[in-house]
Amino acid sequence: GSDHKSRSRAPSYLTFDEIGGQDRAKRELQEALDFLIRYEDIQRLGIRPLKGILLTGPPGTGKTLMAKAAAHYTNSIFMAASGSEFVEMYVGVGASRIRDLFKAARAQAVKENKNSAIVFIDEIDVIGGKRDGGQHREYDQTLNQLLTEMDGIHTTETPRVLIMAATNRKEMLDPALLRPGRFDRHIEVDLPDKKGRVHILNIHAKNKPLAPEANLESIAQETFHFSGAQLESVMNEAAIYAMRDESENIQQRHLSLAVDKVMLGEKTDRESTK
Ligand code: ATP
Repeated sequence: GSDHKSRSRAPSYLTFDEIGGQDRAKRELQEALDFLIRYEDIQRLGIRPLKGILLTGPPGTGKTLMAKAAAHYTNSIFMAASGSEFVEMYVGVGASRIRDLFKAARAQAVKENKNSAIVFIDEIDVIGGKRDGGQHREYDQTLNQLLTEMDGIHTTETPRVLIMAATNRKEMLDPALLRPGRFDRHIEVDLPDKKGRVHILNIHAKNKPLAPEANLESIAQETFHFSGAQLESVMNEAAIYAMRDESENIQQRHLSLAVDKVMLGEKTDRESTK
């Protein structure tokens, strides 16, 4: 429908190299994908196909990036949606949107001459929360439709569809989603450690003029508990401070100010939502 404008249909050029830290998560995901693309062996040995990969972890840690990189890695088309897009007042609308999403993904793969499609559903908990037997019939239908789509995926069909989903509330999910043959592979995408933070800062410093004295190591040291998204903000805010200063490059004090700003910004956000 016309309300799917926000959906990303662009080919994915993002690679795993552009994701900082997350070494373990990247390795686990690549292993799963390597296995996935051995279609012939999988069929020959009668292995149950991998249909769903669940990415779990706090907001802004790179779950969407992982799904995009997975599409690039497997030469699949990438189609993204968010759980909240399927929440509608009228019973059945969410379910038909799910149907449309999978149809569109298959059609796009055919159009681009690709063998596979990755459908990424962010905030899966919005539609995949535990069913409560009648209270929220609309949500139930949407979830049931998703389960139907998953159950309908066969190894022999082309294009092959892999569903990736992200949540930061895995414990809220309906157990039916986690059963074998559905989202049975879980990958944790956690907050980065210090080494990961250095890596992420470097990735986002690539297109920016850093002063020779700027020390991203020490910025990583100060940003314990920052997500990748927050670290990206730090680099961006630092560049803005440099511009305000009419400075030709980003200096250590711009970076420090940016750390404070992002830290403070988060705090006020949290307070205002309470
Ligand atoms: P949410 O759950 O809130 O949707 P997410 O885990 O999907 O978050 P992304 O959307 O992948 O997070 O990340 C948001 C942005 O933050 C990215 O576009 C990127 O700029 C930056 N970012 C997050 N994690 C990383 C990372 N590991 N490496 C590099 N950049 C990152």
